[in-house]
Amino acid sequence: MSHVIVSNPGRLLKVFRDDAGRYSYGVPSSCRAGVYYRCDANACACPSAQYRPWKVCRHMEAARDFEAREALVS
Ligand SMILES: [Zn+2]
Repeated sequence: MSHVIVSNPGRLLKVFRDDAGRYSYGVPSSCRAGVYYRCDANACACPSAQYRPWKVCRHMEAARDFEAREALVS
């Protein structure tokens, strides 16, 4: 499966798109270079989301913003 980085909204997310056009996201770890947390518009694996699961973290917000923008242009 080949992923292509298409954008990096707000520098919070790496955005990948697979051959079927589906998006997935990776949140760069601030502690470990090259390590990414899995993220999408409804769930995030970052420490902030783990400690406060009732809140929408910045990464989920960025994912939602990105998807909203993509919906407008496609
Ligand atoms: Zn997050």
